Amino acid sequence: MATLSQLEAMQAYFESGITKTSTFRQEQLKKLKRCIEKYEEDIYAALYSDLKKSKEECWVTETGIVLSELKLALKNLKLWMTREPVKTNLLNVPSSSFILKEPLGVVLIIGPWNYPFQLLLNPLVGAIAAGNCAVLKPSEFAPATAAVMKKIVEETFDKKYVLYAEGDGAAVIPAMMNHFRFDHVFYTGSTSTGKIIYKMAAEKLVPVTLELGGKSPCIVEADANIKVAARRIAITSFSNCGQMCVAPDYILVHQSKKAELIDALKRSLQDFFGSRPQEHENYGKIINEKQFDRLVKFLSEGTIAHGGGYDKAALFIEPTILDNIQTGGAVMKEEIFGPILPVLSFTTKEEALKIIANNKNPLAFYVFTSSATKEKEWLEKVAFGGGCVNNASWHLTNHHLPFGGRGFSGTGQYHGKATFDLFTHRKSVMKTPTWFDPAMKYPPFKGKLKLFKWILG
Ligand code: NAD
Repeated sequence: MATLSQLEAMQAYFESGITKTSTFRQEQLKKLKRCIEKYEEDIYAALYSDLKKSKEECWVTETGIVLSELKLALKNLKLWMTREPVKTNLLNVPSSSFILKEPLGVVLIIGPWNYPFQLLLNPLVGAIAAGNCAVLKPSEFAPATAAVMKKIVEETFDKKYVLYAEGDGAAVIPAMMNHFRFDHVFYTGSTSTGKIIYKMAAEKLVPVTLELGGKSPCIVEADANIKVAARRIAITSFSNCGQMCVAPDYILVHQSKKAELIDALKRSLQDFFGSRPQEHENYGKIINEKQFDRLVKFLSEGTIAHGGGYDKAALFIEPTILDNIQTGGAVMKEEIFGPILPVLSFTTKEEALKIIANNKNPLAFYVFTSSATKEKEWLEKVAFGGGCVNNASWHLTNHHLPFGGRGFSGTGQYHGKATFDLFTHRKSVMKTPTWFDPAMKYPPFKGKLKLFKWILG
């Protein structure tokens, strides 16, 4: 954990201006990239130990994402940092106007355990690119990955610049936030902890980005390509054992296609993970016993259409499809965040919308349809963070699409340039020459109303 004097040293370091030059920022990004590449095998081993992720999955969802963000930031840094000229309105002619890009200061980045590497270091890339100092708080529940990241961060950066603060979040974070005013807090994790962070930040008027969870619905219309839908839903619903913030949380399929979709999902699961998923190299494990116990309770809230097996000693839960969901059960109230996929059906859009409305502002929303009209209707009717048409979860891997929730699923967006923007203050400036100083701008104003209306109208 970080002491007050360490945090004050970071503030002084930031105020010295050293982190603000493009050369410094570029150097730090390059150092981080080199160190991640150096420890690539250690990262794989750590993620295997914490979550049983294969190297390929680690690359696509963790290291590869961070390295591609680093590449993008290095390529565009100077452009992103450049002052932005904007127009000036008639009232202020002949002034000129521009926006300066300033770093925020010392920022706190708090990560969760499910993609422990990507979700801590991805925001760091933007924080560095934008010229900030950063304190990194990893999740205590992915300890092997936390240890490798500590090695990377401490080998790469001066502690006055990027500080690694481990420990129990409930103790470490208030200890820092109550005594030190961060310039921004970037938090990824559960909605309940998000509220605690938001309250602490509000006490000191610290701006926040909250990347939270929620129940992300997945609509499958009668006109969807069921075979493709099943494959695309199955892969992201059960990747990392469903411990993914944007995994389809439940399916709402048109009644006429329910049986066909369930059959196709079963076939996909068999194709992907075989008949013994526990032994399959591409099937992960539940992070810990607490999450395991929480998930197993959901299994009795419907009929098992596929899977349903589990082994506590191995923290294994089979990829499971739940049918005939009990109304009012926890499985349709809480975010599932595990390898259990309820399949519900609808006959009218209103019926489906009513179910979605029980968990407002999903982080993600997916619709499978071949109709442009239906696609448009669904995208407009549901207030969600981001999503896909005829796909699931992959939107977050496109860094041109700002990623984030809304309302209950979070506030603020990042990825790619959006991360740089998030950690940047856009300082608006107007510059006015002195050679023109019209009397109409000064009292007496009497008789100038018509002129003002013309200029401002
Ligand atoms: P969590 O809230 O338990 O923990 C997240 C972080 O908060 C950890 O670093 C933890 O140490 C810290 N923390 C925990 N209790 C705290 C407290 N009382 N005070 C201060 N800090 C505290 O979340 P988690 O279980 O690690 O992550 C799972 C959740 O995160 C799911 O809801 C998931 O949907 C969400 N999530 C969201 C995104 C996204 O991008 N929106 C990504 C991944 C996960």
